[in-house]
Amino acid sequence: MLSRAATAIPIPATHGSELAATVTATAHTAGQVATVLLVVTIAVAFYLFTCLVWPFGKCRRCKGVGKFKSPFGNAFRHCGKCDGSGLRVRLGRHVINHIRAVRGAGQNSSSKGDR
Ligand SMILES: [Zn+2]
Repeated sequence: MLSRAATAIPIPATHGSELAATVTATAHTAGQVATVLLVVTIAVAFYLFTCLVWPFGKCRRCKGVGKFKSPFGNAFRHCGKCDGSGLRVRLGRHVINHIRAVRGAGQNSSSKGDR
């Protein structure tokens, strides 16, 4: 019975050592954080590249159809969100457009400053 009690004690003790291991791991994972940051940066760069090549996605309201059919006959109306195009500019493309606009504004102001 005493030996069982003794074996019951090390279970919380191992949890404690796991906590200690995580604490030491957080202190020593600077390299791992750098790797994660690198992977995230690569993923974001890849996403932005895909948004450069394929800037449009399907409109979420009309699912890329661009119009809503009436239940009666062949009547339909255009989707108000995408103006009937069925296209949606992807989030990354908005970011790229914003960066380009900011860069263009900077170049314009610098060229004005030169003159
Ligand atoms: Zn739409």
